[in-house]
Amino acid sequence: MNVRRRDSCRLCGGTALDRVLSLPPTPPANAFVPAPVAQDLHPQDVFRCTSCGHVQLGHVVDAETLFGEYVYASGTSPVFVKHFDDYAQAVVTRFGVKPGDRVVEIGSNDGVLLRAFKARGAAVLGVDPARKIAAAASASGVETRAEFFTEDLARALRAEGGPAKVITANNCMAHIDDLAGVVRGVAALLADYGVFVMEVQYLVELVRQGLWDMVYAEHVSYHHVGPLIPFFARAGLGVFDVQAVPTHGGSIRVFVRRAAPFLERADWDGREGAWTSREAFARLQARIGEQTRGLKQVLADLKRRGGDGLVAGYGVPAKATTLMYTMGLSRADIDYCVDDSPWKIGLLSPGLHVPVLAPTALLERRPRAIVIFAWNFADSIAEKIRAMFAAAGGEAPPIVVPLPEPRIMAVPGPAGVPA
Ligand SMILES: [Zn+2]
Repeated sequence: MNVRRRDSCRLCGGTALDRVLSLPPTPPANAFVPAPVAQDLHPQDVFRCTSCGHVQLGHVVDAETLFGEYVYASGTSPVFVKHFDDYAQAVVTRFGVKPGDRVVEIGSNDGVLLRAFKARGAAVLGVDPARKIAAAASASGVETRAEFFTEDLARALRAEGGPAKVITANNCMAHIDDLAGVVRGVAALLADYGVFVMEVQYLVELVRQGLWDMVYAEHVSYHHVGPLIPFFARAGLGVFDVQAVPTHGGSIRVFVRRAAPFLERADWDGREGAWTSREAFARLQARIGEQTRGLKQVLADLKRRGGDGLVAGYGVPAKATTLMYTMGLSRADIDYCVDDSPWKIGLLSPGLHVPVLAPTALLERRPRAIVIFAWNFADSIAEKIRAMFAAAGGEAPPIVVPLPEPRIMAVPGPAGVPA
């Protein structure tokens, strides 16, 4: 495993980094294995740059290791397809994207957003280092280069196909170590009156809501607006608008171009300071301890009530690995997990080696309780679990939500009346 320490701020190059959050070491959050093997753990300490305020992981896992075989396909979720279709329409309308205008996406995954631009007449090109997904996207009509987006590649793309009217990056600006290189590439490829739009999970919401299980090796940066303003300025670009979007518990869409007027950093420091300070992280660290004690109490109470049956987990998203390691859960607490994703079924979870089974295993094994690890979708998952048990003529076991406040979900009353 190629892991190295990062001693300088990814945005400003500053070397005075302050450790503000410490989570236990974990293996890569998507390192599912077919059989129990020793897996390397790497640190998950979060640092804040005392110069510009940017927040980043202290260690970086080699990107080829993490993303070369990446299999996450965003277009598989209907919620995301709708999200990206609305996104494309909003950009086309606001910036007057005309048929034939070039739209390039960095980290284009399966091409779900570019397909929506292509349907509106744009000339689209994806760039994504995950070889299998890039090949599948190209085969489905969204031409995708299986490469990392770099300044050199950006210059080559401009020479081949001209400048881009729109460049987008969704959820990948948190993944990229050499962000300065990527942004120099954006500056090189962007048309004079073009726009760069990045969407990324928002640090302010992570801290405010306690979404600390978003901390894992794929997410090397946790962005907020303040530090991005001078960062883009150094590449000759400026942030001119920011919108809140609801994905991943709270994200931001940041709009960047060459021509002023731009947003002022001082305004954003005022809005974001309370949730990005050293003190805010200290409160978050303390809250993790309270949440852990709360979850253990909920599970102990259920055991007293329900005897010796086993506990199952529902969903093994990347953040489940951070959650299980941080809360000290093992197979003694969670006997097995179920997941809807066919590629995870039959494998063992990263590091802790909890078996991943198909959801129907819940009916066969009748666990004492079910913990929902994809807890941001708790309502819809609970509904699905209850429907599955009802169809089999039974009642679902108690369903536990681990975060942000550990609790047993209330069973809905008859005719939709809340209990
Ligand atoms: Zn910095």
